[in-house]
Amino acid sequence: MRRLRNVKIVATLGPSSSDYTTIRALFEAGADVFRLNMSHGTHEEQQARYDILRQVEADTGRPVAVLADLQGPKLRVGVFSAGAADLEEGDLFRLDLDPTEGDGHRVCLPHPEIFAALEPGARLLVNDGKIRLRVDRCGPDFADCIVTTGGTISNRKGVNVPDVVLPLAALSQKDRKDLEFACELGVDWLALSFVQRPEDVLEARDLARGRAQVLSKIEKPAAVSAFDEILKVSDGIMVARGDLGVELPVHAVPPIQKRLIRKCRAAGKPVIVATQMLESMIESPMPTRAEVSDVATAIYEGADAVMLSAESAAGRYPVEAVATMNNVAESVESDPTYRDIIEASRTAQRQTIADGIVAAAREIAETTDISAICCYTQTGKTVALVARERPRVPIVALSPITTTLRKICLYWGVHSVRCEKVERFKMAVVNAARAARDYGFADETNQIVVTAGVPFNVQGTTNILRVAPCDERLIFRTDPE
Ligand code: PGA
Ligand code: MN
Repeated sequence: MRRLRNVKIVATLGPSSSDYTTIRALFEAGADVFRLNMSHGTHEEQQARYDILRQVEADTGRPVAVLADLQGPKLRVGVFSAGAADLEEGDLFRLDLDPTEGDGHRVCLPHPEIFAALEPGARLLVNDGKIRLRVDRCGPDFADCIVTTGGTISNRKGVNVPDVVLPLAALSQKDRKDLEFACELGVDWLALSFVQRPEDVLEARDLARGRAQVLSKIEKPAAVSAFDEILKVSDGIMVARGDLGVELPVHAVPPIQKRLIRKCRAAGKPVIVATQMLESMIESPMPTRAEVSDVATAIYEGADAVMLSAESAAGRYPVEAVATMNNVAESVESDPTYRDIIEASRTAQRQTIADGIVAAAREIAETTDISAICCYTQTGKTVALVARERPRVPIVALSPITTTLRKICLYWGVHSVRCEKVERFKMAVVNAARAARDYGFADETNQIVVTAGVPFNVQGTTNILRVAPCDERLIFRTDPE
């Protein structure tokens, strides 16, 4: 089983996608990475989904990556005696630390650190920005606000504070528990919500202790400003357009998306474009034209992955949503303009031997008749560099290490294949040729490019490139050792 596209699909699991049959159908329709959203559901529910995913892996013989998305320091108001209150533009409304039930004049915001950071003029956006407040006066335990956009505010609605860098710990108590749980479970990727500074990422890395890759969700203006530093300490990025479009004007999001994708690509780190990609498919079996264009745009921009949230987690058509993304991807990637755009936006980065080898691998593959670039890899690092090149030919990553095979499922164009541990380069070539043939990337008459690092089975730089025939007899005849 192989995909006929390079961009990857991330599908969030939830109530609509928790049984074996649905999860397997999502995989078969095209999902490569599965997201467990720690903001919802119990550990037992996440564990059950995780176990099903590994069962699907065993049954299909194909690795999948699991991404646990930590809730992060999400602010919420308390509760109202009537369950909700109607606010009108121009009203005064107080947020405070008083835990008693709220009304049309006040409600609790149980985060003392926020009051310490607020300043007159700062905006508070409630319920994804549907209700807007502006701070008029504030003190250590209250903020008197003017309602600038009215509406109904109800129990425990989320609050975004875009104008200040909040003195909040990157990881709440709940996040720490969820992180440890997810790492013990064996997830491949952790996503950090509401990252503000590079230190936030470093803190999570310390706790993860190498058990999972750490991906930063860019959903605050502060994270956009500090993006270069955040990217340096992250293994991947998510353009989290939902909250980003609340904290910033929605029209500010597309240019940021474009810029972040380019920077990630130049750095050789995977980038996911997320949220509302096929929103109408929560209720409808057909997407809107605008949604299809949105998915297509992310793919034309060279994103590693596009993501489904509620569409696959809580919608009525989870499998159709994945199939739609898959169809859009196949359509875009067969457009010659797509290749033109991808090639025009390639950045030359030839600092290390591995950089040189992967650039050469792509050039050879594109100037001669090569069927695939095959990388024998321990850590997946070289695979990331090959993916950064966005070659025309498929990338086959061979490794004996399960966690490596899984995590690279997120990278653009990478097809993971388990192979035995090899001691000699010739055996890496034999395995590569076999994998290329088995998965239909090549036949016996074709040639492949093979990269590896010697000595084998130690982490190090890739230092070998060979153009090899796919016919095993020829490999033995032409290889000197
Ligand atoms: P969320 O993150 O779905 O966890 O809120 C993604 C986003 O904000 O876009
Ligand atoms: Mn978010």
